[in-house]
Amino acid sequence: MSRIIGIDLGTTNSCVAVLDGSSVEIVPSDLGGRTTPSIVAFAANGERVLGQVAKRQEVTNAANTISAVKRLMGRRYDSDEIQKIASFLTYAIVPSDNGDVRISVRDREYSPPEISAMLLQHLKLLAENHLGEPVTEAIVTVPAYFDDSQRQATKDAGRIAGLEIRRIINEPTAAALAYGLGKSERERIAIYDLGGGTFDISILELHQGVFEVVSTCGDSFLGGEDIDRAIVDWMVAGFRAETGIDLSADILARQRLKESAEKAKCELSFEPRARISLPFIASGPAGPRHLDRTLEREEFERLAAPLIERTTGFCHKAMEDAGLTPADIGKVILVGGQTRTPAVQRHVEAVFGQPPSLEVNPDEVVAVGAALQGGVLRGDLRDIVLLDVVPLSLGVETQGGLFTRVIEHNSTIPLRKKNIFTTVADHQTVVEVHVVQGERDLARHNRSLGKFELVGIQPAPRGVPQVEVAFDMDANGILSVSARDLLSGREQAVRITPSTGLGKDEIDRMVAEAREFGENDRKSRELTELRNRIQARAAVLVRSYLALGSLLDAADQKMLNEALRRARELGPEDGDAETLGELLDLVEAGASRLSEAVMSSPGEGQGGDPGGTEKPETGMRNLMKAALDDMEHT
Ligand code: AMP
Repeated sequence: MSRIIGIDLGTTNSCVAVLDGSSVEIVPSDLGGRTTPSIVAFAANGERVLGQVAKRQEVTNAANTISAVKRLMGRRYDSDEIQKIASFLTYAIVPSDNGDVRISVRDREYSPPEISAMLLQHLKLLAENHLGEPVTEAIVTVPAYFDDSQRQATKDAGRIAGLEIRRIINEPTAAALAYGLGKSERERIAIYDLGGGTFDISILELHQGVFEVVSTCGDSFLGGEDIDRAIVDWMVAGFRAETGIDLSADILARQRLKESAEKAKCELSFEPRARISLPFIASGPAGPRHLDRTLEREEFERLAAPLIERTTGFCHKAMEDAGLTPADIGKVILVGGQTRTPAVQRHVEAVFGQPPSLEVNPDEVVAVGAALQGGVLRGDLRDIVLLDVVPLSLGVETQGGLFTRVIEHNSTIPLRKKNIFTTVADHQTVVEVHVVQGERDLARHNRSLGKFELVGIQPAPRGVPQVEVAFDMDANGILSVSARDLLSGREQAVRITPSTGLGKDEIDRMVAEAREFGENDRKSRELTELRNRIQARAAVLVRSYLALGSLLDAADQKMLNEALRRARELGPEDGDAETLGELLDLVEAGASRLSEAVMSSPGEGQGGDPGGTEKPETGMRNLMKAALDDMEHT
């Protein structure tokens, strides 16, 4: 049975971990880091680059570099959250036919799950390279406060990537598992998770392998990205006051501002001030203009305070829902890179009346927990039970636009709940059921998940038909709904019209494309490797040939000249597998001819020069021979 990897698919960075025996290993990124930037970029030739490599070209290719796609998952284009960040993005977003967000890159539109799928494919490949075995299954984490559409979108991303998501677990629950595994005493902990894009607070009880979430609360649109934005706004305002130039309209400038804002923010976790220097950020009537400012920690904390303060209400609500006060919480664990900011840590201390515990690595703990859950599902880890909860109430819209709850928030999952509904008019044969998620009393203020039409209800006076609607919430926190007409005892036909998300046909198309792209990526990597090998070998050969080519006969010289010319003229897009293979053979044949000629020329084959009497020409030949031998290893 192959291993199940644990993936923390973060807004800013992602992390992959895998259980190896009794310990968890972090899978290194392609450039050797422990986390991978959650960034996908599209080059002019259609090639995709991901992770660290994509981050490196972010400034020069801003409009085609997609970061923080998690913020767009399962969201409607016209939602307040998306409208708030649209002007801050360096890439273009547009609405889809059903109102979801689409990302527009050159002449194509991508759904957020498609971009997430590219990240998942990349992380899968990293794990496969590291483990030396195929990976087909994963546990993927999501913020506890992700609603049904956001979870569905994450599942869709897994399907598109060809990765079976065995379980979606909540980030704080994964963190609690990593923290609490092996601890035997009963503990009540709070997990304060402030990442790049989301904030969650969860309260859990841990006892001998049982990890029970008691309550959870949060905001899936509050995180480090918002703090970066506050710094960018501060820089833009300062620059405008100084020069009259508005930097916010310039995509390239915005990308540079964003990058330096994040860098300054991270520096301010350790230093009292951070210098931000962006030469040639704009040009005005007086020539090029440079931005050079120092951000004092005090000023930074003033900018970040309203955002950090927004977490307070959620913490109180989570405690209130659990029937607890700060004194009942044994420990507060910090998760998410943004909790490294000292002002965040002070804030947590003020809310909970105790300094937070810094004993877990906030960047890796979620992936570690996911890998442990993979071990639980495979049966490698026993006697561990995760009891998670529904983050937001689920129900239906009833007469007058009211929201009627079927499942209350903080109910333990998985669970199944039924409610009886009836008609509002005489002889009504069709009932529309609108499924909604949220905490507001009017349905229109909550999140619309989809609509059902129950057709073929037996005509009867209003209030008589009894339609049983069952809500099933699985362990991933994903909902499915079914309905039955109790009067006739027959199952009713249920038509679901999801108000958001990808349709089956769209997903199938994306799965095929991702597979093809994965195959294309693999082929294009193989061709690039072939070209690199040809050029590396030709570079060694050319030096030897210049020095010793005269030892070859005319026909071999011609062959070698031709091989070296073709290798020199080889462009980054040139040649298919066959022609490149032929060229590599030609270069290698030339090298072995030269090697043979060197070996059979007078003065060779003496086996070193112990007396130090070697002629300079022979020494040169030995060196050349060594170079040609080296070629074998390039
Ligand atoms: P995560 O989603 O957990 O990867 O958290 C990413 C967020 O943490 C980003 O907004 C980062 O800028 C932020 N972050 C990472 N390291 C630090 C640091 N040393 N100080 C402040 N924020 C940080």
